[in-house]
Amino acid sequence: MADDEDDGELDEVEPASEGELTFRARKGTKSLTDGFRIFTKTKLPAEAEDSAPPPRADPEGPLTVSYAAHTIRSNGEITSAGAGAWAGDDHPVNTEIKLPAQMIRSKQNAEAIAVLVATQKTALDTELRLEGARSSVGTAMTKNLEKWEDRGWIGVPNRTTLQSLSSELHSRTAKTTFVINEGSAGSGPANTMSITGARKTETDQIYRGINPDNELLGAKLSTMTQSLAYRGIKERNEPVSRRATDLNVKMVLEAVKETFSLPATPASIWKSTRHKDIGRNIRNFLWKSMHSAHRVGKYWEHIPECGDRMNCVHCGAEESLQHILLECSSPGQSEVWELAEKFWKQKYSEWPEMSMGLLLGSSLAVFKDENGKPQPAKARLYRILVSESTHVIWKLRCDSVIGRGGVPPTANEVHNRWVKIINGRLEIDINLTNRLKYGKQHAITPSLVLDTWRGTLHREGELPEDWLREPGVLVGIAPLRSRRSPSPPSGRRGRNR
Ligand SMILES: [Zn+2]
Repeated sequence: MADDEDDGELDEVEPASEGELTFRARKGTKSLTDGFRIFTKTKLPAEAEDSAPPPRADPEGPLTVSYAAHTIRSNGEITSAGAGAWAGDDHPVNTEIKLPAQMIRSKQNAEAIAVLVATQKTALDTELRLEGARSSVGTAMTKNLEKWEDRGWIGVPNRTTLQSLSSELHSRTAKTTFVINEGSAGSGPANTMSITGARKTETDQIYRGINPDNELLGAKLSTMTQSLAYRGIKERNEPVSRRATDLNVKMVLEAVKETFSLPATPASIWKSTRHKDIGRNIRNFLWKSMHSAHRVGKYWEHIPECGDRMNCVHCGAEESLQHILLECSSPGQSEVWELAEKFWKQKYSEWPEMSMGLLLGSSLAVFKDENGKPQPAKARLYRILVSESTHVIWKLRCDSVIGRGGVPPTANEVHNRWVKIINGRLEIDINLTNRLKYGKQHAITPSLVLDTWRGTLHREGELPEDWLREPGVLVGIAPLRSRRSPSPPSGRRGRNR
């Protein structure tokens, strides 16, 4: 899952200038990563289950169909939408439709409906030219389609109509071209038919099914972003996971308020999971944690033959993310949290007691001195320490379950893994001060990095004031030597314990 910060509205239909756009069917998957898709449970819209597509006309020579939409407003609100398509006098493809009340009654959707129904009525091997005053349907089906399919249609406006249209177009064996003719706006027979449609007393049934032979299921994993995935979860409307998410949000809000006297909002929590102080690999972990989307404990409850995974492989207690991160008696969480606290106390006195809410909300941490002045370096160290520690515990658990057949790490291994990760993080921080390499936008100011780590380093007294260019700067907690293979005595790490 790519986790670029993609909050922008992707829904805008790019305008196309007057001209022709030819529909091109997608060809197979392009690469291995294209093949992985998520959110694959696409359902037929309810109305497709009890309606049928209209009969197709007989094949014929190239056919030009003009289409139009008309909406009727009352008190500023659209009360009726009509769709019209015209292929010639008394032509079977002609369409005059009033959109059902449950459909989106916008001009854009009505236009797409006009194109959809006209295409459904046209023989698959009849060359088709679709002519309209606005570019939205044509652009959607030619320029935006691949992008929308990649994201599994999440967040695409009028998606049900456009997805059905895409399926219809993919079923066609003859060429389909969209012709944009701005001059035809508000005139012509298609326009008249859309007005008649909108004025009908009875609404029409419209079939918006998808041909299972060419349905491209779900979103392409390689182009998925966090915010898209979140919207995907929202669109799937899963009450259980949403309840879990709501509970997690509440828990974080409470913890953050309690510990930092900070009135956070749900939006600030979601934003905080992408905080730039949080390692990229950890952002996804936090985000999934907020949705209780990890495969732990109750996840396995209803999966056949996996019921036994509900219990912790190490200690047998009921498993949950909280159990793994804060409760399990097997080596892992307790060693890591002791290290984190010890590390913190090299420099600061109070270490807030860890809880799930605090652990998930650590990026919101705010510290102030006695005068109420914010201490950004302190908050930053806290974020780094809590997020990296949380993630180490999780990684150790995954390694044990997946790679070691459930054998837990030893306390020594836990210690050394944590030290390695924190040293790695320090190194990343030092590198990030390189403005030439990372540019103004992504580089961190040297003073912030110095302030963050000052007072936590190994033999700090021997280091210059600005140690950013010094080789081999390490944090003040050293790795432990394995008992079985003692390393040769060297004075370098004087603080080994
Ligand atoms: Zn356990």
